Amino acid sequence: MEVDDLYQDILLDHFKHPRHFQPLADGEVLVDEENPTCGDHIRLTARVENGRIADVRFDGKGCAISLASASMMSERMPGLTPDEARRRIADYVAFMRGEKELDEGTLGDLAALAGVRQFPLRVKCATMSWHAMDKALKKLGV
Ligand code: ZN
Repeated sequence: MEVDDLYQDILLDHFKHPRHFQPLADGEVLVDEENPTCGDHIRLTARVENGRIADVRFDGKGCAISLASASMMSERMPGLTPDEARRRIADYVAFMRGEKELDEGTLGDLAALAGVRQFPLRVKCATMSWHAMDKALKKLGV
């Protein structure tokens, strides 16, 4: 199997079966984030318990890149402290903007999104949910 096909499969799997995707009640939405250039729209909620992120959930609609990256993001956040999460978010956003390289061990299945870096307009699709998570932490005051 070609590496590109493998990455394509990972992306499609997250897009078709996004993890932590669940319709949110209006009252629990912390961040409402849109990417008008593509039409992506997600809403996100998060919970912090005992100094660690206990839960991240989102709903919304968007392109495969935006939903797959939201799914991967929300898989990574639980268990992290807010500071660790902010560092991961900053590293990932810098990676997607081509400002920083990350090794494969750090990337894990996020490597499936690396190809998006060639398409500057789509980088927003791949980073939208990560910015939303950063804003959620701010709203939670952690
Ligand atoms: Zn998009």
